[in-house]
Amino acid sequence: MVSKTYKTSEAHRKKLSEAQKKAWKNGSYKDRKTPDVGGDNNPFFGKKHTPETILKIKEARAKQVITKEHKENISKANRGIHFNPNKDMSHYNSVHYWVKKNKPKSKLCEHCKKVPPTDLANISGEYKRDINDFLYLCRKCHMIQDGRLKN
Ligand SMILES: [Zn+2]
Repeated sequence: MVSKTYKTSEAHRKKLSEAQKKAWKNGSYKDRKTPDVGGDNNPFFGKKHTPETILKIKEARAKQVITKEHKENISKANRGIHFNPNKDMSHYNSVHYWVKKNKPKSKLCEHCKKVPPTDLANISGEYKRDINDFLYLCRKCHMIQDGRLKN
């Protein structure tokens, strides 16, 4: 019974991480909430257990509120997706801040010129303190640019 509980939490973690990755990709991470562990998000959904096991799972679940450690792991994973850990974070932040201050946000995405920009995108990947190294892009163009101009 001990090993079963362990496997569950492993599978659960994987599921959470996949859901988070998807959310990051489609941009819905902005409205993310506490991960949903009910219904078909639960790895046990649709599977059958003996009533005894179900009871045990229920008990465990009641106790197993998402722990602080768990939350930290999720947030660490998210950071890993969004930022290149090899880059100096404080540099990244300060350059972004600097560019936002020195480069007025364009009314339309500088690439497609159709929709208002949502992102400040770096072109060279080096985060130069140079407004010409940055473009205000819509989410879609930013995604395209990210894929195409990988350094
Ligand atoms: Zn665009």
